[in-house]
Amino acid sequence: MEKNEKTSQIPGFYKLPIEKRRSIVKDFANLSDQDFNVFSEQMNIDLADRMIENVLGTFEIPFGIALNFRIDNKDVLIPMVVEESSVVAAASNAAKIARIHGGFKTSVSDPIMIGQIQVLDIPDLVHAAEEIIELKQNLLQIANEQDKILVNLGGGAKDVEVRILNSPLGAMIVLHLLVDVRDAMGANAVNTMVEALAPIVQEITKGKVRLKILSNLADRRIATATAIFDREKMGGEEAVDAFLESYTLATIDPYRAATHNKGIMNGIDAVLIATGNDFRAVEAGAHAYAARNGQYTSLTRYWKDGSGNLIGEIELPVAVGIVGGAGSIHPKAILCKRIMGIKSADDLSRSIASLGLAQNFAAVFALSTVGIQKGHMSLHAKNIAMMAGAKDTEIDKVAAQLVKEGKIRLDRAKEILKTLK
Ligand code: NAD
Repeated sequence: MEKNEKTSQIPGFYKLPIEKRRSIVKDFANLSDQDFNVFSEQMNIDLADRMIENVLGTFEIPFGIALNFRIDNKDVLIPMVVEESSVVAAASNAAKIARIHGGFKTSVSDPIMIGQIQVLDIPDLVHAAEEIIELKQNLLQIANEQDKILVNLGGGAKDVEVRILNSPLGAMIVLHLLVDVRDAMGANAVNTMVEALAPIVQEITKGKVRLKILSNLADRRIATATAIFDREKMGGEEAVDAFLESYTLATIDPYRAATHNKGIMNGIDAVLIATGNDFRAVEAGAHAYAARNGQYTSLTRYWKDGSGNLIGEIELPVAVGIVGGAGSIHPKAILCKRIMGIKSADDLSRSIASLGLAQNFAAVFALSTVGIQKGHMSLHAKNIAMMAGAKDTEIDKVAAQLVKEGKIRLDRAKEILKTLK
């Protein structure tokens, strides 16, 4: 690390009062008190009313910060909005182990999204396909007329591909429009383009256009992250081998892979929500990508290096934006992006991939050693204590007793609470 570089490693952060934590993050991100006040305020109800329909109010979810992340030689604080206990702590712990060997190294492809146009009842499929390719430049030009801003930024429609698919309704053409969406998630941009192209494609193919919509399987917009997890920090060779044995099940069994990938999305969804991104879109893309070879499998890969350290790698589609969508109007999402110091959708994708890998490492590591319940349930004990009616200092007392007894149950929490009254 450079001498004056800010660090995301903040020992004892979790023990600090909330105000102190806020002030550290504020300083890290060079935010003013006024900027930071947004986090203490509720969203304006009129804004909420403009965002969705039939609004009654807003709904709060805890917002925390993941520490220790070093991504491509730069320290990053990652905002996470999540209701599940231990997710933020697990990510921070994994990032701490990863930083021993330099943190996360990432890559991202160009931000290419795919728009689909489905054409049925085509009299001559092969001829229609040839015609589409022949007229590709015209189609791209019409698509690009729909979004001059994107084109001026170096993005826009870049290519057209044709697929012929068989179906119970007969063979059909599915045209793919490949659009470079720059720093946007791109759904609106792509949907506008394919809708504009639909009548022309119908004319070219002499068929009937039905669907014209973005694909969430954003497999041209891939982010990867790798990290080395230190063998000794993990507890030695046996722990690394136990990890690899546990991980292997996710590579061969969809029942395990679903849970394994859910653990990845625990982290990824949390930062997507914090930055106002469409988490359903990224979820859909991730799971479809996990099944790209015909069997649903792990989005991560692990192996040992020559020194016996664990190497982890994640690869997944990350369709996210830093402009457009809800992220441009939600005041807290705007501030979360400033905390991360991201300047592009690329930057955000790199953090998302790193967080997904960290979250996955943490879960498999816990599972392959002490089991998930030990770490998870001690935090969960606080929720159980609150469910039992514990308030203020009672919460920690009841939770501590539940953990001590190894019985994290609501009935027991109620009994313990009675003894404190
Ligand atoms: P958008 O239309 O709000 O903003 C993108 C536009 O901003 C671009 O088209 C461009 O004209 C402009 N722009 C300005 N600066 C830019 C820059 N640096 N890089 C790129 N564009 C720039 O948003 P969007 O990203 O097209 O759409 C995202 C929204 O679409 C999300 O809210 C999502 O929930 C929603 N959506 C998703 C789906 C789906 O996932 N299947 C379908 C429909 C809508």
